[in-house]
Amino acid sequence: MSTFDLLILPGDGIGTEIMVEVNRIIEWFNKQDNSLTFNCEQDLVGGSAYDAHGVAITDAAMEKALKADAVIFGAVGGPKWDDVSYEARPEAGLLRLRKDLGLFANLRPAICYPALADSSSLKRELVEGLDMLIVRELTGGVYFGEPKEITDLGNGQKRAVDTQLYETYEIDRIARVAFDLAGKRGSLVHSAEKRNVMKSGVLWNEVVTNIHKESYPNIKLEHILADNCAMQLVRNPKQFDVIVTDNLFGDVLSDVAAMLTGSLGMLPSASLGAKDESGKAKAMYEPVHGSAPDIAGKGLANPIAMIASFAMALRYTCDLTAEADMVEKAIANVLDQGLRTGDIMQTGKQQVTTSDMGTAILNELEDLVA
Ligand code: NAD
Repeated sequence: MSTFDLLILPGDGIGTEIMVEVNRIIEWFNKQDNSLTFNCEQDLVGGSAYDAHGVAITDAAMEKALKADAVIFGAVGGPKWDDVSYEARPEAGLLRLRKDLGLFANLRPAICYPALADSSSLKRELVEGLDMLIVRELTGGVYFGEPKEITDLGNGQKRAVDTQLYETYEIDRIARVAFDLAGKRGSLVHSAEKRNVMKSGVLWNEVVTNIHKESYPNIKLEHILADNCAMQLVRNPKQFDVIVTDNLFGDVLSDVAAMLTGSLGMLPSASLGAKDESGKAKAMYEPVHGSAPDIAGKGLANPIAMIASFAMALRYTCDLTAEADMVEKAIANVLDQGLRTGDIMQTGKQQVTTSDMGTAILNELEDLVA
């Protein structure tokens, strides 16, 4: 009997619409048999929390997030809250969750469903069947290192400084996440840095090499310079299984990898924290896209990124590989049948609403267990 506590935070805009479809899938799992139960609580985050409580997330909701096995997050923001103070702006809710849960590892898969291979900017044969994962360090590096400042030099010139800073423990823990994940996938890790020109790259390379030697002899490790990694991603992306890299390179490389596979509405993500004594890690799962105010409330949103984020929760928090595979297979089958939301619409295919897409995925799940 497995029980998991989930905190559901739909957020704003299309966040609320796509979360309805995830809730339907969770209910479906709860009805299957009594060996698997999801206990769900729902709360407000972002603009909706601001409207109700004057903050982007309440302390009470944060408490629930800290207790949950995983947070399932929709999206926040929208023009309605453009004039809200900086501290209470919708994104502050997301940032507090990431910070208080200590989510240092960002996982961005790039999966190319065969039915959508022609939507990629690359040739079908290069991307069809692509299934790779970028593991990006999320809480250190040049975005946070001090000093970080612009100094007026007084002679009409200014000097801007950002500091790329990593300590051993930060590289150690992200490398372990990558090796552990590779062990559940293709057993290959590429570690990307710029050791040829950056000291942080030298340390990164050294720490990853040592951890590999000490603890992960069964995983293949390749070191790759980050610029070459960018090139290889568009030349031959299927050579990769897991790429582990720092905050800055990860930001760029994960966007490149994501766009190999088509629309924003298709891209899930996960953020993981450190494991506790029982081996459990704090975790949050969310689509890469935002609250899409331009299409909110019209039934146009693609729920697949959100549903695929839930599949990541099944895989990485719940260790339910078969169930995660089944949700991803249901998504692939629905796409094979030619069903498309507006963002991934192609000639000759059938355009459907957010809830039609959710229903079709549920029907596929029914067929897969039949
Ligand atoms: P966005 O991702 O919301 O939308 C960009 C474009 O992609 C829009 O045209 C939108 O309609 C489309 N799109 C996005 N998701 C889609 C989906 N599931 N189905 C179909 N089409 C989809 O980015 P934006 O327009 O720059 O930002 C809108 C708001 O979202 C802003 O307030 C921004 O701050 C916020 N935002 C939040 C997050 C988050 O919560 N993690 C991330 C990015 C942006």
